Amino acid sequence: MIAQLRALALTAAAALMVPLALPAMAQGKEAKQLFGAARVGSAQQPAPFGSYAKGCMAGGVQLPQTGPTWQAMRLSRNRNWGHPQLVNFVTDLSAKAARMGWNGLYVGDMSQPRGGPMLSGHRSHQLGLDADIWLMPPPRLNLTINERENLSATSMRRANGAYVNSGWTRGQHEVLKAAASDPRVARIFIFPGAKVQMCKDETGNRDWLRKIRPWWGHHYHFHVRLACPGGAAGCVNQAPPPPGDGCAEAQEWVANILNPPKPKPRDPNAPKPKPKRELTMADLPQQCVGVLQSQ
Ligand SMILES: [Zn+2]
Repeated sequence: MIAQLRALALTAAAALMVPLALPAMAQGKEAKQLFGAARVGSAQQPAPFGSYAKGCMAGGVQLPQTGPTWQAMRLSRNRNWGHPQLVNFVTDLSAKAARMGWNGLYVGDMSQPRGGPMLSGHRSHQLGLDADIWLMPPPRLNLTINERENLSATSMRRANGAYVNSGWTRGQHEVLKAAASDPRVARIFIFPGAKVQMCKDETGNRDWLRKIRPWWGHHYHFHVRLACPGGAAGCVNQAPPPPGDGCAEAQEWVANILNPPKPKPRDPNAPKPKPKRELTMADLPQQCVGVLQSQ
């Protein structure tokens, strides 16, 4: 697919000397099919283009499958790619985890080689700036490829995420604190019960708690989102979390889990919500065409 795209693009560019445009055969195709087919990063300067759930990544690099303090999991997905800043962040955090007494970290999905929408799973992770990190301490760092495909992650939640379970220790608290204290990090998503637990357990500086955001799911892994790297002109940051430690908000999430509010009846005069449409290349920044077509 990509080889065909590339051949077409080269022919068109050479014959017409015009800026790259998407070959007709790819127009109208879902962007996730085009980006899902890319096997390697683009030979370009590293750059995220667009926003976390609508964008792509030039010059993506691969997190080595195994390092001294980490292993990438589910290798068949080929999602251990990211902006160099993300790869550096993940390896740094795993070294910190090792200094705290863990073996290191198991690293889940980052981005596809050229970022972009995925065929399955996430809406975000499109810029090479998001990474899922497993919450369980790695029992060992010499898992085979097969084990990395099949090993089950341990959930850390109880009561649908209102509370942590017995798998949660000070270790998770310290790893999350180290991640959130890193200036490269914009926010971290985790289930509400974990945030409330960390709010209770933190007796020192609480500034880092602001970046820890309660979210659905995220009880097997936490999700780290880096801010746009300095000078990345085409990269759109998300609005920062509200000021404060966010602990009251997390407590509200927990209250709503324990005591779900009744759904509001739909206003019969309200327009029907539009069904979600798959992203096409026209929805993404123009630079993403070049990212797909680059060698
Ligand atoms: Zn995630």
